[in-house]
Amino acid sequence: MPMLADPSIKYKPYTPLNLPDRQWPAKINRAPPIWLSTDLRDGNQALANPMTIPQKMSFFETLVKCGFKEIEVSYPAASDTDFNFVRMLIEENRVPDDVWLQVLTPAREDLIKRTVDAVAGSKRAIIHMYNATSCLFRTVVFRNSKEETLALAVKHTEIIRKLTEECTAKYGTQFRYEYSPETFSQTEPEFALEVCEAVKKAWGKAGTAYDERIIFNLPATVEIGPPNHYADLVEHFSRNISEREKIFISLHPHNDRGTGIAAAELGQMAGADRVEGCLFGNGERTGNVDLVNLALNLYTQGVHPKVDFSDIQAVIDVVTACNDLPVHPRHPYAGELVFTAFSGSHQDAIKKGFEAQRARHAKARAQGEPEHWEMPYLPIDPADLGSTYEAVIRVNAQSGKGGIAYLVQQHLGLDMPRKLQVAFYAVIQEIADREAREMTVEDITTAFRKTFHLGGSAYEGRLNLKSFRISAEPAAGGVDGEAVDERRQFDGTVSVDGQLRVLRGDGNGPLSALLDALRTHLQIDLSLREYSEHTIGQDQNAKAASFVELVPNSGDVKETRASTESYWGVGIDADIAGSGLRAVLSAANNAIGDRPLPELKLSVGFNARSGQADIATAILNSLKLELPRRLQASFFEAVQRAAHGSGGEISYDALVGLFRERYGYYDEEENPRFAVKSFKLEHLNASGRAKLSGEFIINGKPVSLEGEGNGPLSAAVEAVNRGLDGKVSIREYAEHSIGEGSEVKAASYVEVAYEGPGGSPKWTTWGVAIDSDITASGLKAVLAATKAVELADEEARRTAGQK
Ligand SMILES: [Zn+2]
Repeated sequence: MPMLADPSIKYKPYTPLNLPDRQWPAKINRAPPIWLSTDLRDGNQALANPMTIPQKMSFFETLVKCGFKEIEVSYPAASDTDFNFVRMLIEENRVPDDVWLQVLTPAREDLIKRTVDAVAGSKRAIIHMYNATSCLFRTVVFRNSKEETLALAVKHTEIIRKLTEECTAKYGTQFRYEYSPETFSQTEPEFALEVCEAVKKAWGKAGTAYDERIIFNLPATVEIGPPNHYADLVEHFSRNISEREKIFISLHPHNDRGTGIAAAELGQMAGADRVEGCLFGNGERTGNVDLVNLALNLYTQGVHPKVDFSDIQAVIDVVTACNDLPVHPRHPYAGELVFTAFSGSHQDAIKKGFEAQRARHAKARAQGEPEHWEMPYLPIDPADLGSTYEAVIRVNAQSGKGGIAYLVQQHLGLDMPRKLQVAFYAVIQEIADREAREMTVEDITTAFRKTFHLGGSAYEGRLNLKSFRISAEPAAGGVDGEAVDERRQFDGTVSVDGQLRVLRGDGNGPLSALLDALRTHLQIDLSLREYSEHTIGQDQNAKAASFVELVPNSGDVKETRASTESYWGVGIDADIAGSGLRAVLSAANNAIGDRPLPELKLSVGFNARSGQADIATAILNSLKLELPRRLQASFFEAVQRAAHGSGGEISYDALVGLFRERYGYYDEEENPRFAVKSFKLEHLNASGRAKLSGEFIINGKPVSLEGEGNGPLSAAVEAVNRGLDGKVSIREYAEHSIGEGSEVKAASYVEVAYEGPGGSPKWTTWGVAIDSDITASGLKAVLAATKAVELADEEARRTAGQK
């Protein structure tokens, strides 16, 4: 059957109440009503499978926990389950002293008796009697006249009065009385008043105290008109009932028109004191008014509702389990999607809202002012309901970059620059499209780590920074009086496809020095287009985060800068230079993809620049030593000389052998050529001078040495000098650790200058040593260098002889 072209031939509109001086539109609800939960009665009656006693019990406990003080627990005359449940509550002492048990009864003497029996012995009970008063029900359902309807209410009110008084005398139960002119909203307003006046008179003992008031409950049993009409009816009743101060006016809205909440709110403005309803709006047909919704509406107006939903999920869990009905995903406050923004513009607004609010709250806090909640799209702080901000934003293929940026900010502490947001957004969209599903927070953070090779070995890229040193290179070629920017040198160990490589490069800053190193050693030719950084965290835990955008080098500066191809990288490090370098490698990893990188060259050619680092790489991989740059240069010269005799080629083993020989580096423990057998270091005075004495092995021979200096090394040098005609001095010293934990050793590099007797020209050479003790390692390096001094001396003499 089609919908009618003219529905007025079938449906009549409601009859408006003539109330031109209505007051309620100007009223504001500034206090919570008395709440009555009728979940266990009205709600339960509407279930396909009414609750079992254990379910009712768990629901009751949840209501008590939420703070409900008036709970309609059953319709005891309707079923044994309902009757027994009330008895169990009372006999097992399950009802807190300040909670009123309410039970419903129709206007029938036998049923009233059973109802009063059900609550006998409870501390506090409300007997709730109803009879239908509307014209439709009077004429069609019950075939009663107005007079008969009124007489029925009066007679049974008198019965309730008598039976409850007897019960009080016998068991001490304190009673209140609630009367519902059922179908109130369809009852002639004057007749509803007439019946209630008669009931009040029959009850005969309404007083002004809370416990003495009679409750007149005004049900919109079926919602038949707009909420303002209901409010008019309530205001009319409230203004015209006598002894208003001895009455609680209670509302009982249903939701047939979808305006149950509005009806309850306008009804309170119209003078009602009390609201009956169910959690999440369970109840016949479209349900009773939703008490959670009403309470939280008040809460977001800054009025505490006197019921608590700070763990709303726990309440949802109990209610859905007992009702066997879901809460709609878009249900106000309670639905699983209500703190979720899918649309990009909403996500972006929320992200900005949180940022602005953080600043506003900090300011308000400083000035001792309230930290008000003002957030786009979020009328309530999810945290107040036990939800977390993590749940605020979910991402699908339609989501915007703002939401994703927000999640990355929340979970990784990184504020992505705008262009990076765009780039990473493309990554997420690609994944979301490919997998055709919604992305979780974890999907996004994992994708971020993978994309930028952040956060541990699981996400490492092909290029990995192991160690580095940035040093200043004296400016070369400065024109007179013209300031020249100091150049930077990068010396580092980078794992390349799992193999350690020594990389070095120069540039105007650390990043360009690393880019130079990548270009020189790995043919990765990239330029820096954008760089930004910020700190994460505070104080000693603070870290630096860097973001770089690299573009392929085209050879032309303008063209390079305008490149449409670009790679982003992100780096985090305790050190700002480290975070920048890591960001460059992160972007370089993205640029190289899986293209093969040039292999390590071990033959010694004429490309001296890359050659030095390649030789250093060989030493790094065989001996784990990270040579200082000047030692790399020194050793490279030696290697070239050695290779000269073998056609420019030198084997790996020969290279390592040459290094050991030249720098006195022997890590074997038995029969060492250089060793510290024992030493003693005395601090001579406050100036820090030290006296060193000890037994050493130099070049396989035991030697006793004694000397003084500003520290152990200079004391060792002085001791060595005592046995020489010439003079040794330290030019450079470097050290680093090898290994981890209890296996850690110190590697020391000492460059000494040797001045022959009679002031002959200075020669410099290096000594290298490792030891588990850092002082011993330094001393051994000095001793090893003095062996090299002899070699240098011999060479000097030979060179002199050749001239
Ligand atoms: Zn109802």
